[in-house]
Amino acid sequence: MPRQFRSAWLKTLATVAVLLLLAGLLGTWTGHPALCVAVAALLVLTWHYWRLRQVLLRLTARQRWETSNGVGVWNELDRLLYRNQQEMRVRKRRLIEMLRSYRAAAAALPDAVVVVDRNTQRVQWFNEAATSLLGLQHPADMGAALVERLQPLPLAHWLAGGRNAEPILDANSPVDPGIRLHLRLIPYSDHHWLLVARDVTKLLHLEQVRRDFVANVSHELRTPLTVVHGYLDMMDPEDFPDTGPMLSEMRKQSQRMAQLVEDLLTLSRLESQQHTELETVAMTSMLASLKREAEAHSQGRHTITVEDQAGVDLAGSNKELHSAFSNLLTNAVRYTPAGGRISLTFAREGKGAVLAVTDTGYGIPANHLPRLTERFYRVSSSRSRESGGTGLGLSIVKHILGLHQARLEIRSEVGQGSTFACHFDAEHVRPRSNSPSISSTEDFPA
Ligand code: ADP
Repeated sequence: MPRQFRSAWLKTLATVAVLLLLAGLLGTWTGHPALCVAVAALLVLTWHYWRLRQVLLRLTARQRWETSNGVGVWNELDRLLYRNQQEMRVRKRRLIEMLRSYRAAAAALPDAVVVVDRNTQRVQWFNEAATSLLGLQHPADMGAALVERLQPLPLAHWLAGGRNAEPILDANSPVDPGIRLHLRLIPYSDHHWLLVARDVTKLLHLEQVRRDFVANVSHELRTPLTVVHGYLDMMDPEDFPDTGPMLSEMRKQSQRMAQLVEDLLTLSRLESQQHTELETVAMTSMLASLKREAEAHSQGRHTITVEDQAGVDLAGSNKELHSAFSNLLTNAVRYTPAGGRISLTFAREGKGAVLAVTDTGYGIPANHLPRLTERFYRVSSSRSRESGGTGLGLSIVKHILGLHQARLEIRSEVGQGSTFACHFDAEHVRPRSNSPSISSTEDFPA
């Protein structure tokens, strides 16, 4: 028991004892000691009951407590309650200040932030940017159904995805179609989601400027390069014994530059393309022509086999898919030493299909795999240049597959070889009309 409380308690006990003693003395003097002590005890009890009632009433009414200077347990109780109340007030004030500063920080964010109730999908709170970017109005939209309120943004399907919802990378703002938004959904508790919308108009504009710049530069370089290339082609190195080797090297480099320009133009075109027209891609003839090209490129240095177990065709762009598959095969030929094996396999995968190019080449260290489809990313620049690579092949493959909602999977082991597999979903598979399946040992008709 704390010292202060013990002394208050002793003082109260002493007061009661003195009162009862005085009542006893008075009783002895008047001849009714028992009566006097009983009356005094009753009075003490009544007084304590009255103080208790006062405390209960004030607590019930949540009254402000006054500090007390008196002695005894009741005064001590007043002091303790007063102290607790003061501490609570200070804590509450601090919490409110903290909450206000958090809200002010969220309100000042340049991104629109909307707190959404997870079950009802209704708006619970939003900041100022949500008014300028999403058109939410305070206080009318507090409690509004988010999907209806933010139409025509395609949110219903997105919200249904919940935790797994992929960010919406580019959507027009419902307030002003000129504003382009990047939307993310962040589940931050069991009951709440945070919808964050960022204005990416400037970023997308810059990206467009970059794309246009690359496309224009590539386009402008094409003509002078064709001229240089044409003249170099007209000069036979054998006619110039002194400068022959130089001429051959110039020819090789100008060819490389021309290929680089072509690849950059292809990438620019693919990047600006939103979708691709779906036509039936006859896989029997596609595999046949891929094999012919690979053999021409390999010039007998590799064993090239084709296995067609799928018995279906693909839906997509003939030209683009041919370019993607051909890039994978060209890489397989380039990065597989002479004597190696290269196989092209086309098979079903559930309701979809997969086309895989496997080689027994140099392989790729695991740490390079995630960055392989970036432009100009090379595992070994010297090997890539030596073999005539531009560093853009896999980037082109990734873009083409993206336009077909397909996925590129890369498996590789250093010294063992690599597999580049293109996975297509059921929507990009079509029944094959007439051509039979081809096994690995069969050769294609020329
Ligand atoms: P490049 O024109 O240099 O071949 P790509 O984008 O086609 O550019 O490929 C990027 C890099 O990936 C290459 O430089 C090479 O290091 C590596 N690579 C691609 N395909 C293979 C493969 N089949 N085997 C080993 N490495 C490969």
